[in-house]
Amino acid sequence: MINIDKNQSVQITSSQIIKKPNQLQKGIVEVSHWSEEGENEVDASFMRQAMLLAEKAQAIGEVPVGAIIVVDSMIIGQGYNQSIALHDPSAHAEMLALREAAKNLENYRVLDATLYVTLEPCPMCAGALVHGRIKRVVFGAYDQKTGAAGTTMNIVQHDSLNHKMEVTGGCLQDACGAQISAFFKQRRKQKKG
Ligand SMILES: [Zn+2]
Repeated sequence: MINIDKNQSVQITSSQIIKKPNQLQKGIVEVSHWSEEGENEVDASFMRQAMLLAEKAQAIGEVPVGAIIVVDSMIIGQGYNQSIALHDPSAHAEMLALREAAKNLENYRVLDATLYVTLEPCPMCAGALVHGRIKRVVFGAYDQKTGAAGTTMNIVQHDSLNHKMEVTGGCLQDACGAQISAFFKQRRKQKKG
């Protein structure tokens, strides 16, 4: 049996806690919050297109999230949640948009691209965006549960990864958030009835 000195184990834990935030903070580009001022109308107009895709997800009973990828003002990839329909846990809006964009470019690196998505990316999508070398991410609603672009973790600007993105959060967040909450409200209603 191993005897664990309680005081010692507390010491180890606390030293790790002190070290970790420093490591994580270093090199973080930081998430900027979207504002309606200035030239952000371009962001808003692309986000509205992502919201239209989210409606398509909603129409087939999927969580309404839509994503588009833009290079030089041209949409080169788009997607909406289809995990249930495709029997594919990885079929999130961002993943499908990323696959389409890479195919269109015939390149596994989707360089100089901005991804617009109505909900903050999850860890899987954030990781895929790093692999694809997406330059900038603009998301709508913040995801308090699994957001991996700064809310619960920051994979898109992580110091241990070899690519960091510019991040703008909260673009049309009220409208994007309302779209998702309305879906879950409706679904709860259906379950009850
Ligand atoms: Zn995802």
